[in-house]
Amino acid sequence: VLDAPKERVLSMNFAARRQALIPLLKDLQADCLLVSSLPNVRYLTGFTGSNAVALLSAKGEAHLFTDPRYTLRAAQESDAQVHIMRGSLAEAAAKVVAKKRWKSLAFEASRITVSNLTEFQQKLPARVNLHATSGMVERLRMVKDADEISIIRESVRVNSKAYERATAKLRAGVTENTVAAMLEFEMRKLGAEKPSFETIVASGPHAALPHAQPRPETIARDQLLLIDMGAFVGGYASDMTRMMHLGSPGRKAKKLYAAVLEAQLAAIDAVRPGITAGAIDKVTRRVMRQHGLEEAFVHSTGHGVGLEIHEGPRLGRKDGTVLEAGMVITIEPGAYLEGFGGVRIEDMLLVTATGAEVLTPTSKELSILST
Ligand code: ZN
Ligand code: ZN
Repeated sequence: VLDAPKERVLSMNFAARRQALIPLLKDLQADCLLVSSLPNVRYLTGFTGSNAVALLSAKGEAHLFTDPRYTLRAAQESDAQVHIMRGSLAEAAAKVVAKKRWKSLAFEASRITVSNLTEFQQKLPARVNLHATSGMVERLRMVKDADEISIIRESVRVNSKAYERATAKLRAGVTENTVAAMLEFEMRKLGAEKPSFETIVASGPHAALPHAQPRPETIARDQLLLIDMGAFVGGYASDMTRMMHLGSPGRKAKKLYAAVLEAQLAAIDAVRPGITAGAIDKVTRRVMRQHGLEEAFVHSTGHGVGLEIHEGPRLGRKDGTVLEAGMVITIEPGAYLEGFGGVRIEDMLLVTATGAEVLTPTSKELSILST
């Protein structure tokens, strides 16, 4: 049974995406591209199974290789020519390359294992040239099409709704683990496939670890509580961080929160097409410096989100990627003080023709929970 988001995935225009790949293959003088990254296979052929490779030609042909567990799913999901293989997918793909007499083949150097590449190479006719490429499909994926944007909106909506429902029931005395489970329970009830990464619930000094794992420890009063969560809906990720405080916050927590919020709002304000990802990172870093928190901000400002929770562009110091309308990114500065705790505030944004739209609807006021 297919739920609503998946039906929308099925109607996506995969052929248009493959069309966009053709000039890139021609630039490389490659006859075809072997796609071994599953998110890239999904992006280009629609297939969502866990075992597949795709072969896309510079003339627009699309072949999808998978195993018999996925016969039905491949037929339902993909408009590519489906090859169901009992044995090695690499061998089957190599046979198609030979049959089509393709002479030069590009492969995804950062997305294929050495053993798969070796196996594939051994099955190819000797005359075939191999080109290592990297990030070719990922670059296309940075700019979302209308179908993707509508699914991402749904993913963000589900994630925020799950946060709202779970935190409404939140009281002192529960453990971080319980809170994480409550968030994920609500998310699934709202139609999410799964969390888009391991939900982070970190209270007090534990929140000083940017990637803290929830513990079986009770969340304490008079401390900051960091929640970073995301959902997969229709295959697309969402990502949000919000802060709560059990009991009224002291001066230090309030000041830390205000500084991070100021940095986050300044960065959001700066997002527009034409600016580099690195320049946005500079904006957050400048505000943090003004508050003496530069050293406490230990990660980059944000990242692209789509079929994967972390994808391009990376909003880091040195990233020269120029932002374009249609990119979906996070803005998530944070400050982490050992022994005290941490604050991170994260929204998802859509880069528009004139600036940016904040997709995340959840309020950014520091939520104060009565104890
Ligand atoms: Zn996050
Ligand atoms: Zn994030």
